[in-house]
Amino acid sequence: MIYLNGEYLPISEAKVSVMDRGFLFGDGVYEVIPVYSRKPFRLADHLRRLDASLAGIRLANPLGAAEWTALVVRIVEQAEADDQQVYLQVTRGASATRNHAFPKIVSPTVFAMSEPLLPPPAEQREQGIAAVSAADNRWLRCDLKATSLLANCLLRQLAVEAGCAETILFRDGFLTEGAASNIFVVRDGRLLAPLKNHLMLPGITYDVVLELAAGNGLEVAVRDVLEQEVRGACELWMTSSTKEVLPIVSLDGRPVGTGLNAGKPGPMFEKMYGWYQEFKQSVMHGESHG
Ligand code: PMP
Repeated sequence: MIYLNGEYLPISEAKVSVMDRGFLFGDGVYEVIPVYSRKPFRLADHLRRLDASLAGIRLANPLGAAEWTALVVRIVEQAEADDQQVYLQVTRGASATRNHAFPKIVSPTVFAMSEPLLPPPAEQREQGIAAVSAADNRWLRCDLKATSLLANCLLRQLAVEAGCAETILFRDGFLTEGAASNIFVVRDGRLLAPLKNHLMLPGITYDVVLELAAGNGLEVAVRDVLEQEVRGACELWMTSSTKEVLPIVSLDGRPVGTGLNAGKPGPMFEKMYGWYQEFKQSVMHGESHG
């Protein structure tokens, strides 16, 4: 069952107008919420980010936080898998004619569904993944989780065609993020993360990783990160709600790191991976809201 504009129905019966602005213009925003053992992870943070994305595109939030929560709970209950990814999307709805300007009366399209959440293959965690890099040619509001993801799709496809898992993006000599993830750098025993701004999505997993780093006494610097610092990193990680934390062991065909650790997941990744799994377990067992 999926949710569409107040109704729960099988996905094959769910229909949206071809005049929907989400379809015509990519005029909408979305969220992806991981669910472990039927417990949504960091739901309040995801709903806050949805609110910020909606405000950013000047679309009134059609539901309050309690209504979104009830919707997510129902979608999770109805799905088969215990571990799920709940997808929420709000577009500026359909209008009578195709016109860039907003319709006078907006009737948003609200869509929610659940898909199974599979952890990344053990091989990716144990051996690491390969990445390529590219110039970040997206717009200047990458902080909004907009459905207009054409640039991200083109950028991710570069990785796929190079046999890699992610594309690391640089803008004007600085790291922004991945095509569909945030990127962390380890140098000289210290964790570096780019400062949140309009050029990257404020990742919920990014927040969790920084909290775990601080809670476990890692030295952390959140600041602009130079492209050269990424290219000369001891370790690189990518984070996202569906991939959690993964080690990047090669960039543009060159191994990440030096010496014995070159081209292999690093020691700081191993620690972070362990902390992340422990934290997830504590959330699943109800000791924390995630
Ligand atoms: N940046 C981009 C461009 C993304 O699409 C995503 C999510 N796939 C992220 C970062 C990571 O965000 P989160 O940890 O909230 O999933």
